[in-house]
Amino acid sequence: MTDFAATKAMFDLPAGMIYLDGNSLGPLPVKARARVAQAVSDEWGEMLITGWNRAGWMAQPMALGDRIGRLIGAEPGHVAVGDTLSIKVYQALASALELRPDRRVVLSDSGNFPTDLYMAEGLLKTLDKGHELRIVAPEDVAEAITDGVAVLMLTEVDYGTGRKHDMAALTRKAHDAGALALWDLAHSAGALPIDLAGTGADFAMGCTYKYLNGGPGAPAFIYVAPRHAEAARPALSGWLGHEAPFAFDLDYRPGSGVERMRVGTPPVLQMAALDAALDVWDGVDMHALRARSIELSELFIALVEETCPMLDLASPRDADMRGSQVSFRFREGYAAMQALIERGVIGDFRAPDIMRFGFTPLYIDETDVRSAAATIAEVMTNDLWDRPAYRKRAAVT
Ligand SMILES: *Cc1c(COP(=O)(O)O)cnc(C)c1O
Repeated sequence: MTDFAATKAMFDLPAGMIYLDGNSLGPLPVKARARVAQAVSDEWGEMLITGWNRAGWMAQPMALGDRIGRLIGAEPGHVAVGDTLSIKVYQALASALELRPDRRVVLSDSGNFPTDLYMAEGLLKTLDKGHELRIVAPEDVAEAITDGVAVLMLTEVDYGTGRKHDMAALTRKAHDAGALALWDLAHSAGALPIDLAGTGADFAMGCTYKYLNGGPGAPAFIYVAPRHAEAARPALSGWLGHEAPFAFDLDYRPGSGVERMRVGTPPVLQMAALDAALDVWDGVDMHALRARSIELSELFIALVEETCPMLDLASPRDADMRGSQVSFRFREGYAAMQALIERGVIGDFRAPDIMRFGFTPLYIDETDVRSAAATIAEVMTNDLWDRPAYRKRAAVT
């Protein structure tokens, strides 16, 4: 049993705010304040350079990787933390392509997050070997997995609509066609149960500032399946992925397993925040979390559809086909979201017309959902969003 009232108490949530944006940036775990303050004063302040050994800073990327690994079904020792997700996508794809040297197609879909596609495009240009980035509609992915495909590169849960791919089935199909499968778990890690080892994914990566609550700028993670771990060549061959960084050799020799995916100096203060954030997950059963997330999402959809006919559900109606977010389309979605935010209901907007609401059972309960739906009904039925101030776009939407 997971005690969600207890996990809610582990977060510092501003009074009067209903935070439905944990899919974009998780809130502050109470313990992260003290943990970061301690890392600043006791570790950086007192230990200075000796903190790398005495406070275990250098071992943190793998230790945190294992803590995340438990949440995503990875084998122990096969997840490393560091850099940003964009960088991890680049590394995974570069290694995967080298493992399929005779093929030239990277298959992805139009529901993927743009940075994943941009990183792929940049890598393929740099390789200059005639690779093609083939982007199909999400529903056409399965039939587009053909013999020429080197790597299937997908994000399990669509950042816009919350639509969820069948990771196990698509991975199997990719393998049957001789391709490798690379999964972005940005909207999956901490949102639903994942069985990386069981699905046979070849590479995976994700970020820790969304559902894992590691804080703005928290480092990403990368998983390399054990069967590839000693064969994958790191394209970004930085010194901390070297077999012996402090030998200061002039030539590069990859470290063992996924450690070779480390690049440079890890972000110690961000890792302290992430470590505290991961404590919240210690008593959480991912299946209980998923069940609660579906309950909350279904309740939200029912309440909003009952009162707001002008909002069109953009997420799949079948809960099994969704991640942990619900999106609605509305022509003036940006303005409507600003009106909600001003009234303490925090979601976000994704162009051109998507209003996103994330459901995070660790700190969102049924009372929050009912209260948020009531505010949405009030704003929408009275056109309270229809003010010039709400239409003025900020840099981050
Ligand atoms: C959030 C997200 C990113 C963000 O990448 P960063 O390098 O951390 O900025 C990348 N890919 C997906 C699928 C995402 O959802």
